[in-house]
Amino acid sequence: MTSWVDGASGSAYDVDNLPYAVFSADDDRPRVGVRIGDQVLDVTPVAAGEMLDVHEAFARDSLNPLMALGPTVWRSVRTWLTGLLTDEHERDVVEPHLRPLDDVTLHLPFTVADYVDFYCSIQHATNVGRIFRPDGEALLPNWRHLPVGYHGRAGTVVVSGTPIRRPSGQGRPPVPEPVEGSTGSTTGAGRPTFGPTRRLDIETELGFVVGAPTQLGESVPTSGFADHVFGVLPLNDWSARDIQAWEYVPLGPFLGKSFATSVSAWVTPLAALEAARVPLPGQDPEPLDYLQVAEPAGYDIAFEVLLNGEVVSRPPFSALYWSPAQMLAHLTINGASLRTGDLFASGTISGDERDQRGSFLELSWGGQEPFGEGRTFLVDGDEVTLRATAPGALGGRIALGEVTGVITPA
Ligand code: CA
Repeated sequence: MTSWVDGASGSAYDVDNLPYAVFSADDDRPRVGVRIGDQVLDVTPVAAGEMLDVHEAFARDSLNPLMALGPTVWRSVRTWLTGLLTDEHERDVVEPHLRPLDDVTLHLPFTVADYVDFYCSIQHATNVGRIFRPDGEALLPNWRHLPVGYHGRAGTVVVSGTPIRRPSGQGRPPVPEPVEGSTGSTTGAGRPTFGPTRRLDIETELGFVVGAPTQLGESVPTSGFADHVFGVLPLNDWSARDIQAWEYVPLGPFLGKSFATSVSAWVTPLAALEAARVPLPGQDPEPLDYLQVAEPAGYDIAFEVLLNGEVVSRPPFSALYWSPAQMLAHLTINGASLRTGDLFASGTISGDERDQRGSFLELSWGGQEPFGEGRTFLVDGDEVTLRATAPGALGGRIALGEVTGVITPA
C-alpha cells in the first residue's frame, strides 16, 4: 500500500505518516492540511464534497476542533485519508486539491491550552546537575520516582520559522574582588547584572498534543495515553542559562524559559508512531503503581540538531527514562483536568555520548569545553533546526516536522 501522489511513494511522507498542519494559500483563510510527499492536501473541499460528517472541523484555523472529536474520529479520518491517497479511483477528485508545499504558508497548528515541560532524560538531568551543582548529588532524590516538570508559558509557543529575539534579564551578581583583611562571605553581596542573555541555548525536545479533554478530578492512567494524545511534534525550549541560573531556586524555571518555545508546524498523529514503539531503557527503582506502564512504552525517534546547517548532535528519544504515558499519568494524578490543545514536552533529550547531547549547555559543558568550530552558546544570526525521523509502518522511516528559528539581537 502506497500513495499515487507523485514523489510520495517510499518517501518520508508516504501514507504511513500523514501529519496535520494549518495552512493558507493566496488570500484564503487558514485551514487544515495534510502532508503527502511534498504536497499539502487541502482537506476541507474534499471532505465537504464527500459529505464527511466532520468536514467542518477541517475548515478551521486550528486543529483544536478536529482534536476535540476524540480517538474514534481520529482513526476514521486517518483511514479515510489513507484511502483517498492510495486508491487511484480517487485521484480525479483529490488531485485538484493538492498544493506544493512551497506555495503555502504554515501557521501555529493548534491553540495551545496549558503547557507543561518535563525533565525526563536521565543523561540530561545528570549532566545539568553536575554543571549547575558540581559539589552536590547530580540527581535529586525525587528524580527516579516521578517525571519532574513545571508549567511553562502557553502564550509564547510559536511556530517554526518565527525569529527568536535574544531576551534580557537579571543574572547572578558578580563575585566581588576579595578585600584585604576581610573574611566576609559573598552571599548577597552586590547587585545582579542586567542585560541581554550571554548564554542563549536550545533544548531538543518532543512535544505531545492533547486532543481529548478530561473532567476536573479525573486522572488518565498510563493505559489511556492514546485515548487523549492526538499527536507529537519536535519542540525547541529556548533557554537563557544565565537568567535561569540566578532565578530558578527555589521555584524552578521562569523568565529564562518563557520568552519563546518553538514548535513544528506539523503534528504527526500518534497512530503514525506505532512502528516506532520500543521498550524503555529500564527504571530502577520500580515506580509507584500509578506510574507502571505496559511495554513497549518508549519510541525510537532519532533527532538531529543543526546549527547553521551543520549537524552538531543526534539525540535519541529512545534513551528517555520516563515514557510519555507516564508523563501524562503523573500530570493528571492529582485530578488536574486536560483541555484540548494542552501541550506537554519531554524535556531535553540527551544520550550517553557527547554528540548525543540535546543542549549547548551540555555540548559545551557549561561553556567550558567549546564544541564544533569553537562554539559554546548562541550568537545573533545563528539558525537552529531540529529534525527527527522514526520507523514507519511501510518499512521505511517517516519524518517528523522540522522546527527552526533564527536568533535576532536583543
Ligand atoms: Ca526544557
